[in-house]
Amino acid sequence: MHVKIIEGCIVCRQCECQAPDVFVIEEKAHSARVHQPHPNGDREADVIQAIKGCPVHVIKLKRDRVPATVD
Ligand code: SF4
Repeated sequence: MHVKIIEGCIVCRQCECQAPDVFVIEEKAHSARVHQPHPNGDREADVIQAIKGCPVHVIKLKRDRVPATVD
């Protein structure tokens, strides 16, 4: 998965509280930043909770595509 934050963060800190290993608040930039853009799959639940909890919907998630297998 690939996580990013687009413009518009209001620095509510929700994402950082939900997944501090993935999101960090950049005080000088007045925005959250993705510290770990490719978190492990076991972090997906917390990342999704952070996305759902973002009041301005600026956290975006792109899931990795699993290549089709040929038998
Ligand atoms: S939850 Fe959204 S608005 Fe709040 S700090 Fe994170 S990115 Fe910014």
